[in-house]
Amino acid sequence: MSTIEIKTRKGTFYPGKVMCVGRNYEEHAKELGNEVPEFPIFFMKPSSNLAFSGAEIEIPPYSDNMHYETELVLLIGKNLKNASETEAEEAIIGYATGLDMTLRDQQDLLKDKGHPWEKAKCFDNAAVVSEFTLKEDLAEKTNSKASENFSGSEGFSGSEDFSGKENRSTQNNLPISLDSRIILHVNGEVKQNGPLRDMIFKPAAIVAHLSKMMTIEEGDLIFTGTPAGVGKVNSGDKLVGQVENLHHVSATIL
Ligand code: ZN
Repeated sequence: MSTIEIKTRKGTFYPGKVMCVGRNYEEHAKELGNEVPEFPIFFMKPSSNLAFSGAEIEIPPYSDNMHYETELVLLIGKNLKNASETEAEEAIIGYATGLDMTLRDQQDLLKDKGHPWEKAKCFDNAAVVSEFTLKEDLAEKTNSKASENFSGSEGFSGSEDFSGKENRSTQNNLPISLDSRIILHVNGEVKQNGPLRDMIFKPAAIVAHLSKMMTIEEGDLIFTGTPAGVGKVNSGDKLVGQVENLHHVSATIL
């Protein structure tokens, strides 16, 4: 298996599968002329398509319309099956900013025929990710304000909502703020800019739903869909994306 190594303080993770959600932002579904879905629409990329930030992406010769899609990526920290949303949230241990590169012309052809999307979604470096941020580090980073509410002090005990089953600091299990925005610059110009709050299915709901389909394994990654503003890339373009408070992801189109 050829995949990336995700090194964190909690160990090194080897993604076995990359699950992606389609049409998870209403405005994006509409911009492509799609209905807003009732259930999450999942598709997969092989883990060998993964690349870290800084990747150079070749446009396959059978496409004349490669698009960027900037997304929040979830890192799963333990095996999960038939999970509740609370269990799902606990299993999400980190986040990255990701680029789900898509051959829109191929996807349109395949969609018209009712065929699977792989040819549009799976190619080398089609899934680019930034460095990962552990949830607990994110909490420390963004919680200087929230600490007034959640008390970072040792004596904290009012923990129904966030403490989970583990006897750890309450802050460790806080998910990323839905006020965080996904922003993409192409050659320095802003092309995508929308808050995570606009996701139709939020991370815990996505993971819980997926875990009812199949076991989600430690190290698996989940791309959670893109906000509106997707567009074509051209040779020489430099993409720089960021979900606020996470690392940047960059890529160059060859
Ligand atoms: Zn996508």
